Amino acid sequence: MRTIDHWIDNDLVPSTSGNTAPVFNPATGEQQAVVGLASVAEVDAAVASAKAAAVEWRKSSLSKRAAIMFKFHQLVEENRDKIAELVSIEHGKVPSDAAGELARGIENIEFACGIPQLLKGGYSEQAATGIDVYNIKQPLGVVAGITPFNFPAMVPMWMFANAIACGNTFVLKPSEKDPSVTLFLAELLKQAGLPDGVFNVVQGDKVAVDRILEHPDISAVSFVGSTPIAKYIYSTGTANGKRVQALGGAKNHMVVLPDADIDMAADAAVSAGYGSAGERCMAISVVVTVGDAHDRLVEAIRDRLPQVKVGPGTDPANDMGPLITAEHRDKVASYLEGAPGEGATVLVDGRTADLPEQGFFLGASLIDDVKPGMRCYEEEIFGPVLSVMRVDTYEEAVDLINRHQYGNGTAIFTRDGGAARQFQFDIQVGMVGINVPIPVPVAYYSFGGWKNSLFGDSNMYGPAGIEFYTRTKTVTSRWPDPSTSSVDLGFPQTR
Ligand code: NAD
Repeated sequence: MRTIDHWIDNDLVPSTSGNTAPVFNPATGEQQAVVGLASVAEVDAAVASAKAAAVEWRKSSLSKRAAIMFKFHQLVEENRDKIAELVSIEHGKVPSDAAGELARGIENIEFACGIPQLLKGGYSEQAATGIDVYNIKQPLGVVAGITPFNFPAMVPMWMFANAIACGNTFVLKPSEKDPSVTLFLAELLKQAGLPDGVFNVVQGDKVAVDRILEHPDISAVSFVGSTPIAKYIYSTGTANGKRVQALGGAKNHMVVLPDADIDMAADAAVSAGYGSAGERCMAISVVVTVGDAHDRLVEAIRDRLPQVKVGPGTDPANDMGPLITAEHRDKVASYLEGAPGEGATVLVDGRTADLPEQGFFLGASLIDDVKPGMRCYEEEIFGPVLSVMRVDTYEEAVDLINRHQYGNGTAIFTRDGGAARQFQFDIQVGMVGINVPIPVPVAYYSFGGWKNSLFGDSNMYGPAGIEFYTRTKTVTSRWPDPSTSSVDLGFPQTR
């Protein structure tokens, strides 16, 4: 059985803890590898490597850091197919989803290539007579990232590209469910010229996470994952004096007004609801139809579902792959089981779809007549299940969304610019799409939800990432008048 190691000091390091976790091929259900789970001592070794490397790395010139990022970008581009394959084989997503993930990750490397520009501080000449004030953005030292299974390449790139470019060294703890791709990215960073110890990967579970949260040499922690763990990471990390950004779960609503282009909205609902088998924090989970949009939209979505081809990610003809584990597939299916008892109507039941016999598959599912208070509405399902809710007015739709515990993304479909503008004003959600179902900001903006979708006050990547991974030093400076120098420098008395 293949074993998946750590990456410390620019090299593969096998785990010695004796604790392991299985890594499955979700498309076959078979275990394909075993990942070693770090002990406290193994986390400490990675942090020690990062700490030692930080001394020289923060001295490296901005142009050197930018050059390494450019080279890394080139290598990732050259290896797109291989990276997408590594993602697909452990996560299960189809090649187009894996390629999409990578494209959105690469944007963050591109952004980090601009680090000389991004780290420019401010300068106030003559704040008082002969006194200048300016600020410098300096790295934090060793920073850590803890990432979820659903974007095993992109979410680490959200973090480490900016963190490293800012002059920090990085310890990544990827999801233990699909950890291999991070080792390949580490190898590419090494090929790009990144010095030993600047980027490290520790495979692990709660033991590794808890050590990261308490380690005195780690200054900041970036987390992306489910809400209960995000809350835990935020409270524990900040209690230990660390800077923490912790992004949590989601329940994203898509509002469809009666004037919307129904075909456009139905296409969007299907791709945003079932893409990547619904295992996206920006997936559309609830479609809220206003007025007479309901019947037309539900029919249009239902018509499209037989065309969503479910099967292994190895076949490019498939639109939707399996879920990550058997347990997760069963949990997602339990929402379909429970919905009728709560008064909802299962219009399309993915459990009865024509699915491959092996693997953790579930077909695209559609539940109508969903209401607040139902389990399938209140909880994050994180699978290929789209709920539909019918409301009479725009206000009811907004009220529904604003009362939900999550506020990651939302979208409105309408032809009315005034209605869309009012929606962006009213809605208590961090990322808003107007006729765009998955409004993930481009890398030169920043990503972040509201309410239980984000803990802390820092969004991730983009300008917020540069802020998060640096601290500001402000210098107030006065030089003696050169005309008063004991050495005659030839200055006239000017002041
Ligand atoms: P998860 O919370 O189970 O795991 C995330 C990370 O936390 C993993 O590295 C895992 O090893 C670690 N972890 C798990 N349990 C832990 C514990 N008890 N103590 C300490 N560490 C622990 O999330 P997941 O299932 O890997 O990913 C799916 C979740 O991530 C969904 O809720 C999804 O919405 C969310 N997500 C959010 C965003 C966002 O940007 N807001 C993006 C992607 C995924």
